[in-house]
Parts: sequence; C-alpha cells; structure tokens
Amino acid sequence: MTDNQTLAGRVAAVTGGTGGIGKAICQRFLREGASVYALDRATAQLDGVIFVEMDVTSPEQVAAAFAKIEDQSEKLDILVNAAGIEIEKTIEDTSLDEWNQIFAVNVTGTFLASKAGLPLMRKAAGGSIINFGSYDGFIADPGLAAYCATKGAVHALTRAMACDYGPEGIRVNAICPGYIDTPMLQSFFQDNGDIETLEQAVRDVHPMRRYGTSDDVAGLVNWLAGDEARYASGQLWVLDGGLTAQVQQMRL
Ligand code: NDP
Repeated sequence: MTDNQTLAGRVAAVTGGTGGIGKAICQRFLREGASVYALDRATAQLDGVIFVEMDVTSPEQVAAAFAKIEDQSEKLDILVNAAGIEIEKTIEDTSLDEWNQIFAVNVTGTFLASKAGLPLMRKAAGGSIINFGSYDGFIADPGLAAYCATKGAVHALTRAMACDYGPEGIRVNAICPGYIDTPMLQSFFQDNGDIETLEQAVRDVHPMRRYGTSDDVAGLVNWLAGDEARYASGQLWVLDGGLTAQVQQMRL
C-alpha cells in the first residue's frame, strides 16, 4: 500500500470485469489499493483480482457470487455494473428473444447485482454504485434500437436508486460513454464496413479528434468510487470527448 492510494481498504466488485472497460476498471482499482472481484461469464488471469464466474441474468449465480464476496470480505464498498451486450438492429429486425436478452443483461443484470450488493454495502455503512449507461440513452445511433432502450432504462434506474439509497450513504451514478475502444466497439466497426475508414470517420466527428480508451473511463469510475466524489449522486456522467456537445457537422 502506498500513501496516495485512494481506495485502500475498500472492497470492489465489477460485473463484466473481464471485458474491455471492466478489466481497465479492475486494474485501476487494484492500483488504488482496493480488493477487487471481477464478476463475468468468463474468468481470466489478472494478478490480484479475484475472478468469479457469474451470469448477471441468473438470480442464483448472482446470489452465489455476492455470498462469496461476503464470506471472503464481509462487506462491499463499490459496485460497478459494467456487464453489457449490444445488438445492432432496428426493432423490426430484432426478435423478441433478442429484445428480452439485451434487457436481461443490460437492465435486469444491473438490477440483480445491485439488489445483491446493497446489503453488503450496508455492512460497510455506505458505498458507491456505478452503472453503465451510454450516450445512446440520450440520443440514438441508427440500428441500435434495443440497445438505446436498455441504456435509457439504466439512466432512469440510476436516478431512482440514488433517491432510495442516498439516506443510507449509498451513492448511485451512471457513466455514459461515447465511443470507447473495446471489443464491443471493434465488433461494431467490423459489422459496418471498412474498419480504417470508419475509425477515421469516428475520430473526425469528435471535437477531441479521438475516441476514448478504457483507461479514460476507469479514471472517471475511480473518481466516482472514491471519497473525492462524496457529494456526487444520481447523475449521468457523459464521457465522450465532446461528441454530444456539438451540432452535427455538415461536410461542405
Ligand atoms: P465488452 O464487450 O468489452 O465487455 C462486456 C463484458 O460483459 C464482457 O466481458 C462480457 O462477457 C460481459 N457480459 C456480457 N453478458 C454477460 C452476462 N450475461 N453476465 C456476465 N457478464 C456478461 O464491452 P465494453 O467493455 O465496451 O462495455 C462495458 C459497458 O460499457 C457496457 O455496459 C456497454 O454497454 C457500455 N458502453 C460501452 C461503450 C463502448 O464504446 N465500448 C459505449 C457506451 C457504453 P463476454 O465477453 O463473455 O460476452
């Protein structure tokens, strides 16, 4: 432990903890001195992180994972709900099974993990829950209808949870990223044409002329998780390199 670690003594759980953003969050939390649990469908190797295989859509698996955290660490200070999937379709092309599946992971998964994590946060006498919304919960990308709907639901759930648990010292926020370079974004590029042309086009529409990295996101997560953010709750934190600050640019 070093003097400037901001999360020393804290216990953190990250769903989707082996994914692009989730892994960067686990690494950042470790550097900040927390005990870190990565809860995901797959396990992985990352020195110091405890991997627990868990499908966020299964109430039984979620209960078992949080029981394990309670057994080993007794409490939970930080929960990051980063597990998520994307379906790139209009509603006519989306089957009911696909609709139910994306809601099961992105919305019900956030509900189940939070429900299981809250009693452990009471044992810590407070905590910070960080959900993953998206700029797609405010504005829409074409062909992402179900995904946009799930992220709008996560935004509303975040505000509602912040109202309900604020009196117990539990803060609830959502991060709403724009384009972040992860396997999810790469799969989006692969499904939509020539990757280099697309990547350049995406950079060009950002005022900062780049898209984000998982470490950019982990920085904001780390701030929301820690004491510096002690008065921040119920908010939707857009992190998009300025993308949604500008009106659409005409190509003249
Ligand atoms: P990734 O696909 O890289 O990671 C998502 C992780 O969630 C994967 O490890 C995945 O496992 C896991 N996961 C999926 N379904 C389940 C499940 N049922 N139970 C447990 N784990 C599951 O995505 P990102 O890291 O890019 O995304 C993280 C979050 O950020 C998501 O909520 C996403 O919607 C959001 N976001 C991402 C943006 C981006 O540009 N990347 C933009 C805006 C929001 P597996 O690999 O097995 O599927």
